[in-house]
Amino acid sequence: MEVAVFGTKSYDRQFLLAAADGTDIEWTFIEPRLTETTAPLASPFEAICCFVNDEISSAVLQKLSEGRTKLIAMRCAGYNNVDLPVAHELGIQVARVPAYSPYAVAEHAVGLILTLNRKYHKAYNRVREGDFSLSGLLGFDLHGKTVGVIGTGKIGQIFARIMHGFGCDLLAFDVHEAEDCRKWGVKYKPLDEVLAQSDIISLHCPLLPATRHLIGEAAIGKLKPGAMIINTSRGGLINTMAAINGLKSGQIGSLGIDVYEEEAELFFEDKSQSVIQDDVFARLVTFPNVLVTGHQGFFTQNALEAIAQVTVQNLNEFAAGEELTNEVKVS
Ligand code: NAD
Repeated sequence: MEVAVFGTKSYDRQFLLAAADGTDIEWTFIEPRLTETTAPLASPFEAICCFVNDEISSAVLQKLSEGRTKLIAMRCAGYNNVDLPVAHELGIQVARVPAYSPYAVAEHAVGLILTLNRKYHKAYNRVREGDFSLSGLLGFDLHGKTVGVIGTGKIGQIFARIMHGFGCDLLAFDVHEAEDCRKWGVKYKPLDEVLAQSDIISLHCPLLPATRHLIGEAAIGKLKPGAMIINTSRGGLINTMAAINGLKSGQIGSLGIDVYEEEAELFFEDKSQSVIQDDVFARLVTFPNVLVTGHQGFFTQNALEAIAQVTVQNLNEFAAGEELTNEVKVS
């Protein structure tokens, strides 16, 4: 089976080739993202492989349906960028990698907390320049702080476990409470209480219509003043303008994000020689208490191996005409 891989990076090529070794899959690696403009490139392929910032909108799906495409194999867990009802109507199946390494993302969230708190990024530069002063590097003990986890699925649970190890008090909000989480001392509370009582809030719920701008003006107003917000889930969970206002007023004490609502135009590319056109993003990165990473939460050896293996399994099931274990169905 021939599969077109959109938005290919060198690491996608490396891990997909290794995982498909000995199978009938033949990859065509395409560097551009899937958009309305690039969609015609998919037309000879029955299966295509996509990632978080590919545009799988109604218009793109219409174009795919004019060609041979019958399967979109997402090499990620989230599928908020796919117009699922339209895919379903057009008879295009969607599969994903529901779980690869929840540790990768949970550990990255913890990394953002530690870096924002103890300012390792600043210390690293200072010491290299022979500046061993400590002013500006003052942090706080995580031990005894209250951490709010929004979304206690696979990643949120691992995150809670790690923070339990630091000696934090854990609060959580989820539409489905996870019994296992109570082992780590998690107390489920209504969202407003989690917002009001937490020193650190970490977002681990999916981007859905119900969760879009979950952290907006109203929620920010309810925070414990100076709270730290961490988002390793999806950019759309935070209203960026509201976060900027919250940072300016001090209501948000610090912000660590691995995802950004308009990241599709920026992330995964080297833009170091370009002028950034996104003024909101440009403002965001001027704050000394904001740390942005470019959607690298998933980026570990273990996670990439697992993503590639499950993607190949999804493609093999499709080629064999079998039921897709990891099909994303319209709910
Ligand atoms: P999961 O499906 O296991 O867990 C998501 C949890 O969110 C579930 O417990 C669900 O009940 C809960 N939830 C759903 N709606 C909610 C709501 N309205 N309010 C509160 N909670 C709600 O997913 P996961 O594997 O833990 O992944 C979480 C998110 O992390 C994904 O949706 C994805 O967007 C993101 N992610 C990011 C990266 C990265 O590289 N930064 C990598 C993988 C996943």
